[in-house]
Amino acid sequence: VDGKGVLNNRISEHIFTHLNQIGIPTHFIRRLNMREQLIREVEIIPLEVVVRNVAAGSLSQRLGIPEGELLPRSIIEFYYKKDELDDPMVSEEHITAFGWASPPEIDDIMSLAVRINDFLSGLFLGVGIRLVDFKIELGRLFEGDMMRIVLADEISPDSCRLWDIKTDEKMDKDRFRRDMGGLLEAYREVANRLGIMNEN
Ligand code: UDP
Repeated sequence: VDGKGVLNNRISEHIFTHLNQIGIPTHFIRRLNMREQLIREVEIIPLEVVVRNVAAGSLSQRLGIPEGELLPRSIIEFYYKKDELDDPMVSEEHITAFGWASPPEIDDIMSLAVRINDFLSGLFLGVGIRLVDFKIELGRLFEGDMMRIVLADEISPDSCRLWDIKTDEKMDKDRFRRDMGGLLEAYREVANRLGIMNEN
């Protein structure tokens, strides 16, 4: 989709910059231009970590919970990053048994996921958007003898479900996945509300 990368680059820059400012470590250094970022090299942990606040997508399908139902509490899920297998859901048992991450690393990942969820929920609520769910990826950053887990990849309407608070209108990749049209307009609206882009 022409122009989507430029918007995602700006939105992800905005989010990662704020996360860095509140002490959540990320791989992000700075945006270089319209389509590129300078980031720290990390060893990617082969997990997609999904945080959910409201039922939608695969959770609704698997568990029969209607889309839009507020969850009793935020839920964290792990998926093994393996395209050939369609990123299957896995448990902490699988993650530690196969050595994808250690128990202390899983603790770090979960506490980062909760902090990121709290920050993002507030950020989007402030501009009239409900953060339904999102996916993050994490990596190991090596600094001398030290290693720490940091947020990597991107956070954008490609990796979040974002619904307008008043109308429940979708402002994310589901517009494409569900053939609704208006994808770029929705991403632009997210950027505008976050105060990132001017009308152009
Ligand atoms: N997600 C993602 N990449 C993936 C799978 C999911 O960014 O490969 C995001 C998706 O946009 C949503 C959340 O993770 O915000 C939860 O997705 P879900 O498990 O409901 O699966 P989906 O409906 O995307 O198949």
